[in-house]
Amino acid sequence: MSDPFTHAKTILKILEENGFKAYIVGGSVRDYLLKRPIHDIDIATSATPEQVMTIFPVTFPVGVKHGTVIVRHENCNYEVTTFRSESGYKDFRHPDEVTFETSIFVDLARRDFTMNAMAMAMNGQILDPYGGRADLKKGILRTVGNAEARFKEDPLRQLRAIRFIAQLSLKPDRVMEKAITTCAPYIRHLAVERIREEMTKLLMQDAAPRGLELLLRTGLHTHLPGSQWLPRLECTLDVSFRWLDTEDERWALFLISSDCKNPDAFLKTWKFSNKTALAILSLMNAFQRRNQYEWDKLTLYQYGLETACSVEKIRRAMGHAFTSQEILTECWVELPIKSRSQLAVNGRDLCRWLDKKGGPWTGRLLEHIENKVILGEVSNDRHAIQRWLERHAFD
Ligand code: ATP
Ligand code: MG
Repeated sequence: MSDPFTHAKTILKILEENGFKAYIVGGSVRDYLLKRPIHDIDIATSATPEQVMTIFPVTFPVGVKHGTVIVRHENCNYEVTTFRSESGYKDFRHPDEVTFETSIFVDLARRDFTMNAMAMAMNGQILDPYGGRADLKKGILRTVGNAEARFKEDPLRQLRAIRFIAQLSLKPDRVMEKAITTCAPYIRHLAVERIREEMTKLLMQDAAPRGLELLLRTGLHTHLPGSQWLPRLECTLDVSFRWLDTEDERWALFLISSDCKNPDAFLKTWKFSNKTALAILSLMNAFQRRNQYEWDKLTLYQYGLETACSVEKIRRAMGHAFTSQEILTECWVELPIKSRSQLAVNGRDLCRWLDKKGGPWTGRLLEHIENKVILGEVSNDRHAIQRWLERHAFD
């Protein structure tokens, strides 16, 4: 197998040739040891952002204050961050002070979990001061240092713990689980956007219920925004997220299965964009309708194939009988038109043919014709529609 770090190691080499220390750190080292796909590769170095920008020809100063510069190399981006320590966290959100450091070990100490506090040197040697590798072997998630203190510093770590447990099939260390229970109320200090982002990452895991179970067991859920609207959160443990693809589908499943009492207010409280909130609400609405009626030509046309398929996937995830994507697609393909713009006539045609001025009647009649066409009772052809009008318009 080729070394996934070949290019990143070139960056380490250049930094070292310039007299600095540099390591691959964080998630990519963890995922490499777990033989999981590696996404982004983070690099930590003793060079300051200014020094990094002098050494490499193509860089983007994305977070210089916090020590981060993006280095572009061989068509890949690498986040290169100066070794740092953090202190303060008075607002539970951001460290009051970030100090640049010269030792990788100081940098590893500020990281959240033992498995995320490992570094790989250019020669492949792994620095693992907190026993992250052993914890991974045992399948245990453990904080670096005192769990309560680390959660108090940044309560988002509690949600990260829950997400990692689902994502990597880990078990929480006993002391850490207790600390999540104790520190649960701190979650209220977090910006809702950070909570939303982390919850979305959790819901995108096929094993999301594994994390949701810990969320419930520790009582952390009671401190989430809008939790009063989720009376049956425990029911989310019994659904199969794996059948769903998109974030919207997974959020819709989450809200439906927990019997959300006020989805509109919930999505507002969680500061979802209007577009996303509408998409989730529309899925929930289509789901409710489908609970009462099977799909027919008109509803398939009204909601569209994509929504219909999503709804059936949600039904499948909840263990309900569902219609396959193939059958829905067959019905969709057979629809004479897929949108009103494909209708062979428009409002102006109706006014001309009936010799009347346009008004509210135009839209109503157009919709009536649209329905007739969808049901196959009139073909989507100007002459056929005109003939039908002559026979029925004055009924
Ligand atoms: P993934 O990218 O798969 O979500 P990751 O471990 O790479 O996992 P990132 O959010 O990309 O997570 O963070 C990169 C690294 O930064 C982590 O591995 C960890 O060492 C450190 N880190 C991230 N968030 C925190 C935090 N809230 N507290 C302490 N360290 C953190
Ligand atoms: Mg990452």
